[in-house]
Amino acid sequence: MALLQISEPGESPAPHQRKLAVGIDLGTTNSLVATVRSSVPEVLKDEEGRVLLPSAVRYLADAPPIVGHEALATQAEDPANTIVSVKRFMGRTADEARASGTAYDFVDAPGMVRLRTAAGDLSPIEVSSHILARLKARAEAALGDELVGAVITVPAYFDDAQRQATRDAARLAGLNVLRLLNEPTAAAIAYGLENAAEGVYAVYDLGGGTFDVSILRLTKGVFEVVATGGDTALGGDDFDALIAEWAASSIPEAKDWSRHDRRALMVAARAARERLSVEAATSVRFPLRDGTEVDVPLTREHFETMAAPLIERTLACARRALRDAGLKPADVRGVVMVGGATRMPVVRRAVGELFGQTPLTDLDPDQVVALGAALQANLLAGNRLPGEDWLLLDVIPLSLGLETMGGLVERIIPRNSTIPVARAQEFTTFKDGQSAMSIHVVQGERELVSACRSLARFELRGIPPMVAGAARIRVTFQVDADGLLGVTAREQSTGVEASVTVKPSYGLSDDEITRMLAESIDQADADARARMLREQQVEARQLVESVRAALAADGDLLDEAERRRVDAALAQAEAARDSDDVEAVRGAVRELSESTEAFAARRMDRSIRAALSGRKLDELT
Ligand code: ADP
Ligand code: MG
Repeated sequence: MALLQISEPGESPAPHQRKLAVGIDLGTTNSLVATVRSSVPEVLKDEEGRVLLPSAVRYLADAPPIVGHEALATQAEDPANTIVSVKRFMGRTADEARASGTAYDFVDAPGMVRLRTAAGDLSPIEVSSHILARLKARAEAALGDELVGAVITVPAYFDDAQRQATRDAARLAGLNVLRLLNEPTAAAIAYGLENAAEGVYAVYDLGGGTFDVSILRLTKGVFEVVATGGDTALGGDDFDALIAEWAASSIPEAKDWSRHDRRALMVAARAARERLSVEAATSVRFPLRDGTEVDVPLTREHFETMAAPLIERTLACARRALRDAGLKPADVRGVVMVGGATRMPVVRRAVGELFGQTPLTDLDPDQVVALGAALQANLLAGNRLPGEDWLLLDVIPLSLGLETMGGLVERIIPRNSTIPVARAQEFTTFKDGQSAMSIHVVQGERELVSACRSLARFELRGIPPMVAGAARIRVTFQVDADGLLGVTAREQSTGVEASVTVKPSYGLSDDEITRMLAESIDQADADARARMLREQQVEARQLVESVRAALAADGDLLDEAERRRVDAALAQAEAARDSDDVEAVRGAVRELSESTEAFAARRMDRSIRAALSGRKLDELT
C-alpha cells in the first residue's frame, strides 16, 4: 500500500488479469466477506448458503477453534470458552476489558488484554484472526484462487491501537491488508454516494450490541468523518432483552427457570423481534427443557411502545453528533441505514422523522458495509470498473513532521488522520540574527530524523534579524484530496514565505510501513532516551551560544572571579555538548546556567536602564 494512493486512470484489465480482492466487515456480532464479480459487488456465501458469519469462536483443548454458527449454537454449554463480541476488546487493556462488564476470564498482559480459554491465553487479535481466516477460506473457495488482498472495515471512532490490532489480526490470518476503511464510509461508498452531490451525509448503524452514528462530509468525491457518536452498549440485543423480560413477567414460573431456559427465551425473543419486522403480530415461543411449550403473543404495536425509549437514546446520540459537527438535521442530504437492527420499521420511521427524509434502505443493512469495502478493495487491487473515477478517501498511515534542533522529529500530522487535512505549528529561530531557516519534512513514527523517511527540504530566507526565539515562523502542512502534501513556512511579522509540494506516497510500500511501525514500537524506549540526550545537547549548544553573545556584549559586568567561573563552565559545557552521556550534558548545562545567573540579572538591569533613559516618568505608566 502506498500512502494516500490514488488509482491511476486507465483501462479495466481483461477478466483473466483481474486480481481477487475482498472487502471484509469484521463485526461485533456478525462478519461478512464480499467481492466484485462482473462489475457488481456481492457478498460471498458459505457452503450452506449463509452470508453472515457470527463473530463467535469456541476454543477447545487440543483442537482447532470452532468459528461461527457452530460456536454460537453451543455457547450456552461452554460460555467461558466461547468468545463473542471480541471486537470490544481489540487494542484494549485488561482493565478496560473488565470495565466493559463482559464476563470472561481476562488476563493482564503487557499492552493488550488476553482471554483465558481451554486453548490457552489468547489475545483479541488471535481470536479475530480466527474469524478472518474463516472468511478468507470462504472467499478462496468461492473465487477459486488466492486473494491479492483485503479491505477491512473498522468503526470510525477506532483509535490507533484498535486499528493496529485489526491490521495485525488480518496479517495473522494470512490476509494482505490493502487498507482499513471506516465502516460508515464503506456504507456510503456502497450507495455510490461518492458520486452524489457534495454535502453532509449521516450513517446510522444499529448492530447487535453497538450503535454508531457518523456524520460524513463529501467534498470532491472524498468523505471526511466530521463527527461520530453512539453507544457501545446499545444494540439489537437490548431490544431482545426487553421482549424477554416482558414475556417472562407474564409467566409466574419464569423466576425458577434454568440458565438454559433463560438462554432459550433470549433466542426466541430475538426471533420474534426479527419476525415483527415483516409481520404485524407474532409470539415468543420455545420449548422449556422439561418439554413445556412457552407461547406469548406479541404485536408489533406493543413491541414498538416498549422499544421507544431505546430508540430515543439512539436519536439523542445522532442529535449530539450533529451538534458536534455544528449542523442541523436539515443540513443532511442523505441518511444511510446500516446494521441488521435497522430492519425494524420503527427505527426507520424514527430516523426518517429526525432527519425529515426517507433514509436509504435499498441495500441490505447487514451487507452494506462489506459491499462498500469490496468496491474499495477492487479499486485498490487495480480492477477499475468502467466509468469509475472516484478518489479514495484515506488516512495517512505514517505521521508527517519536521526536523527540529538536534535531529528530533516534531510531528505535525499524526498518522491515521483522514485526508484532506491541514495542521499548522509555530517555530522560532535558534540563533540571534538568524535570517534563514531550513525546513526538513519527514515521515515516520520514530523520534529521530535519522530513523524516519526524508520527504523534502527547503529554506525560508529573509527572516528579519531578531534575537533568538523572537521570530515566529508558522509552518503549515496540508494534505489535499489528491494526496499531495504541501508545506508552507511563513514568518509572521514580515510575511516572507517559502513552500514545497511533495507526494509522500511515492515508493513507500506496505512492507516498509509495516517495518517502520514495528520498529517504532520496538524502539520506543531507545527513542525516548535518545530524545532526552538530544534535547540536552541542544540546550547545551543554545546556552553556550547565548552566554558567548552575552559576554561579548556585557562582559564588563563581571568581576574577575566571576568571569573565571563562567569561562570554566563554558569550557565544560562546550566539551560536554556532544557527549553521549546524558548526565554529563545535563550537569554541564546546570553549572553553566547557575554560574551565569547573577550575570543575567545584571544584564537585565542594564538593559532596562537603557530603555528608560531619557524618558519621563509619566510616559511609562
Ligand atoms: P454487528 O454490526 O454488531 O456485527 P449486525 O449489523 O449484523 O451487527 O446486526 C445484528 C443485529 O441485527 C441483531 O441484533 C439482529 O437481531 C438484528 N437483525 C437482523 N435481522 C433483523 C430483522 N429482520 N429485524 C430486526 N432485527 C434484525
Ligand atoms: Mg456492523
